[in-house]
Amino acid sequence: MTVPVMDRADLDTVRLQLGRPVRGGRAVVHRCGSGHPTVIETEPRLPDGTPFPTLFYLTCPAAVAEVSTLESQSVMRELTAELETDDDLAAAYRRAHLDYLERRERIAHVPEIEGVSAGGMPVRVKCLHVLVAHSLAVGPGVNPLGDRALEMLAPTWTPATCEWAPA
Ligand SMILES: [Zn+2]
Repeated sequence: MTVPVMDRADLDTVRLQLGRPVRGGRAVVHRCGSGHPTVIETEPRLPDGTPFPTLFYLTCPAAVAEVSTLESQSVMRELTAELETDDDLAAAYRRAHLDYLERRERIAHVPEIEGVSAGGMPVRVKCLHVLVAHSLAVGPGVNPLGDRALEMLAPTWTPATCEWAPA
């Protein structure tokens, strides 16, 4: 297991963002333009022993809110339907699932969640926050649906233009 690298300032900011102390936060893996954490990497097993499949957690409140707005529309149902009819997209999404698992395995092997990723991967779309966090953490071209969601968010939120700031 690699050593977590979140410093006190980031832990404090993420605590403000979430409204509670972060559990198992390891590292900030993406920041908005003004420097605050956007995505953190989380321990595959939380300090209390709970297996935690969600490796990348979206913390920026502005991003979280905009993704929630997307989720309240019919986006997840439409993307899931697209997966059922577009074989190339389905294959790319399965590769994203494997990428997610591979990155988590590099941190720790947790038998209870072996083969289980997050967000509905590999065949459904259940949480856009997870997919967006994955895309931001690893960059474009890995999670096709996280990339798509980011494109949909672009009119209202991008990391470059994010205006969230600690109160
Ligand atoms: Zn932000």
